[in-house]
Amino acid sequence: MAIESLARKDVQALTPYQSARRIGGTGEVWINANEAPDCSEYQLNCDRLNRYPEFQPPELIQAYAAYAQLDVNQVLSTRGADESIELLIRTFCEPGQDSILICPPTYGMYSVSAETCGVAIKQVPLLDNFDVDFEAVGNALEGVKVVFLCAPNNPTGNMLDREALLALLEKSANKAIIVVDEAYIEFCPELSQASLIAQYENLVVTRTLSKAFALAAIRCGFTLAQSSVIEMMKKVIPPYPVPEPVSQIATQALSEQGLAVMKERVSTLNATREQLLHALSQLSCVVEVFPATGNFVLARFKDSKQAFDAMAAAGIIARDFANKPRLENCVRLSVGSSAEMDATLTALQSLN
Ligand SMILES: *Cc1c(COP(=O)(O)O)cnc(C)c1O
Repeated sequence: MAIESLARKDVQALTPYQSARRIGGTGEVWINANEAPDCSEYQLNCDRLNRYPEFQPPELIQAYAAYAQLDVNQVLSTRGADESIELLIRTFCEPGQDSILICPPTYGMYSVSAETCGVAIKQVPLLDNFDVDFEAVGNALEGVKVVFLCAPNNPTGNMLDREALLALLEKSANKAIIVVDEAYIEFCPELSQASLIAQYENLVVTRTLSKAFALAAIRCGFTLAQSSVIEMMKKVIPPYPVPEPVSQIATQALSEQGLAVMKERVSTLNATREQLLHALSQLSCVVEVFPATGNFVLARFKDSKQAFDAMAAAGIIARDFANKPRLENCVRLSVGSSAEMDATLTALQSLN
C-alpha cells in the first residue's frame, strides 16, 4: 500500500498553493510576490528565547489595535494572513457540510484552505469589470458560512462598493461571516472597511505585515473583528502562534517610527506604480492595463508568454496568470524599486 493512500482523500486530491517561492525562477528582480523592494533593520533581544512566547503578545496587540483604531480585544495575531484564512474556515465551517464563497479571479489560498479542511467552495465570478457581483453573492448564501472578499483584489486590483457591502452584511447577519481581505489596504487606507467592525458582528477584516510593512519573512498577520468572533478563533488557533522574534520585530514595525517608514514606502511605491501604469499603457505589446490600487499591476499582453520570457531573459521574475480563467495573457507585476521597474520596462520594450 502506497503511503499516499493513508492520507485523507481531500489531501490526496489537493494541488498545493503555487506560491511565488515554490514556483521559483532565476533572476535578480523579484516582482512575483508583491513583496516590498526594501528592508529595514530591527533590534532583537534574546533574553527570553528559552521561554514559550505570550499567546498574544500584549505590546504587539496594543500596537496593532492603535494602528487599526480598534480595541485590543478586537485584534488577533496569526502566522501571516494565510493562517487567519484557515482559522476562519476551521472555526466556522462544518467539514463536509458548510461552504465558503469566493469571487474568482481572486487570491488562491481561500480555496486551498477550504479544500484542506474538507469544506466545499461556492464560486460567484466577478463581473465583467472584475467588481464583486454583490447581488449574486447575496443570492448564493444558502449553506455558506464564510464569504471571502479581497480588496484590493489580488490580482485585479478592484475595491468594494461600500453600500453593496453594507447590504450584504445586513443580509448575512447571524448567517455568514463576511471576510474582507485587506492585505494591501495600506496602499489605499481611506478605503478600509475596518471602521464597520463596531456595527457588524459578522464582519472580519484580515491584514498582514507582508506587503506594505516589508516583513513577508516574519509571517505576521492580523484578524480584526468584534471580540465575540476573536474569542471563537482563539479556541482554534495553536497555543503559541506568535514567535517571540516575530513579536519583537512586528512591534518595532508598528512603532511611530516604523509606521512613518511604512507610509514613506507606500507613497514612493504608489508614485512608482502610477509611472509604471503609464509606461505600460504606452507599450504596443500591452493590450490592457487594469486599474491598480495595491503594490501590483495586472496587465494583459498580446502574447504573455513572449512578455514573460523577455522578462525572464533579463532576470526579472513576474507572476504569470495566463492559465487562469478570464486572465488569458495576463501577467501581474509587483511594484518594485524605480531601477527594477526601469529594467522591466526595458525588457518589455524589446518586444515593441
Ligand atoms: C499576500 C496575501 C495574503 C497573505 O499574507 P501573509 O500574511 O503573508 O500570509 C493574504 N491575502 C492576500 C490577498 C494576499 O495577497
